[in-house]
Amino acid sequence: MAAAAERDILIAGGGVAGLVLARLLAVDGWRVTLAGLPRAAAWEGISPRVVEGLRRAGCAEAEAACATVVPRSGRWNGELHAANVECLVERPLFDAALWRDAAAAGAEVIEGVTTATDRTADDGGWRLTVRLPDGGGRHRSGGFLIEARGRKAPKAGPPRWSGPHTVALARAYDGPPPARAESGVTAMPDGWGWFAVLADGRRLVQVFADAAEVPPRDGLSAFHAARVATAPDLLAWIGDARPVGEVSARDATPLITAEADAPGLLRIGDAAFGIDPLSGHGTYEAIGGALIARPVVATLLRRPADSALALQFHRERVVDAFHRHALAGRAFYRQETRWADRPFWRDRTGWDEAPPPAPPPPPPRPLVAERPVIEDGVIVARRVVVTAQHRRGILSIDDGPLAPLLDAVAAAPGAGAAALASGLGRAPAQVDKALAWLARQGLLPLAA
Ligand SMILES: Cc1cc2nc3c(=O)[nH]c(=O)nc-3n(C[C@H](O)[C@H](O)[C@H](O)COP(=O)(O)OP(=O)(O)OC[C@H]3O[C@@H](n4cnc5c(N)ncnc54)[C@H](O)[C@@H]3O)c2cc1C
Repeated sequence: MAAAAERDILIAGGGVAGLVLARLLAVDGWRVTLAGLPRAAAWEGISPRVVEGLRRAGCAEAEAACATVVPRSGRWNGELHAANVECLVERPLFDAALWRDAAAAGAEVIEGVTTATDRTADDGGWRLTVRLPDGGGRHRSGGFLIEARGRKAPKAGPPRWSGPHTVALARAYDGPPPARAESGVTAMPDGWGWFAVLADGRRLVQVFADAAEVPPRDGLSAFHAARVATAPDLLAWIGDARPVGEVSARDATPLITAEADAPGLLRIGDAAFGIDPLSGHGTYEAIGGALIARPVVATLLRRPADSALALQFHRERVVDAFHRHALAGRAFYRQETRWADRPFWRDRTGWDEAPPPAPPPPPPRPLVAERPVIEDGVIVARRVVVTAQHRRGILSIDDGPLAPLLDAVAAAPGAGAAALASGLGRAPAQVDKALAWLARQGLLPLAA
């Protein structure tokens, strides 16, 4: 039986990633302590896919906090796109709901500032030091540490890669109720803006600018107003509404951290990589990071012999997601051509073709290789089919395992789906789907 501290998992930071993972690990029976600060005021628009992720994680309170769904439009390169919908969330309320979801699963959640995370010399575990709001302190010990303090997570060195330095400046407004609640993005000569208006008349305007142009704190209000004045769409949305409170600033630079995860430590969410908010998928990736970290942590703690495999699995997914968003973001900036020569746009469209770290290159043709996959809640090595589109490999289609099916086809060329299905212990319909997928990849003739 493991010592108590070895079974305890410590989480520094109570944002989306930390809280979702706290819940998942507590559900799995780990003793989890999370220390976090309440979130500063911020509005965000999250994609409906986030709601699906919350449902998968059993975060019922947070799911209920995503009820305000509005149409989201885009004004880019002089064209209006009525793109899709998004859920408008007030982050302090959304995070508080996640906090309740984590606590309901049995995680201990402590409100306070994590001031130190130290390796304990004797047993290789961790000690978390928390400063409570009343000035008191608290310590917790554990065998594993999750770093989830978002962009404020301490870094051992400069990021492994970071994109153009970008700052987001947000200002709230109060005004008459609009014809309809909505949100939108709009391109501006030296940046872009995100706007949200709620049915009760509250509005938020967030402008994104190059960090080099943003003045010190006492100049933020005038800078925000000047940037808004360059965007007729933002002015129209604000209408007669009046500013409320101060302009707040957040770093919005895409970056991926340099630190490798280690057997006793995992970085998740924005502490691992932050993407350009233009994508609107940061929260989705933070929840995805928690869902992926669950089997990784289970493997690291329950099957230490497979630690390298689990860390490879985690790292590949982090790099892949970061890279995907970096390339998609650059392509989106390129679609705006009106100000292509201005520094903001030039810097964000001119990234290297493959900003480091790059994911593994695509194979010249589909191949079968052994790769880490999730199975029964842990990471194991399995033979998967690797293609140019699926560089980490595909294990199965609709539960029809691909590599064993290829073996079966090679062993019995010409066998029908029914015979193959009975050999593999699967339903013929599953095997049919898997065969169709393999045929589309051009793999069936190769196997035969
Ligand atoms: C300007 C901006 C706009 C964005 N807009 C959107 C959007 O519209 N839609 C979207 O999906 N994503 C958006 N994102 C991305 C999204 O906010 C993040 O990807 C997501 O919140 C990451 O979750 P996280 O849990 O990793 O980090 P966070 O949500 O940042 O959580 C980190 C937590 O750690 C806490 N913390 C930090 N230091 C300490 C400490 N020392 N002790 C204790 N706690 C600490 C913080 O208070 C915070 O609660 C935006 C990001 C930025 C910067």
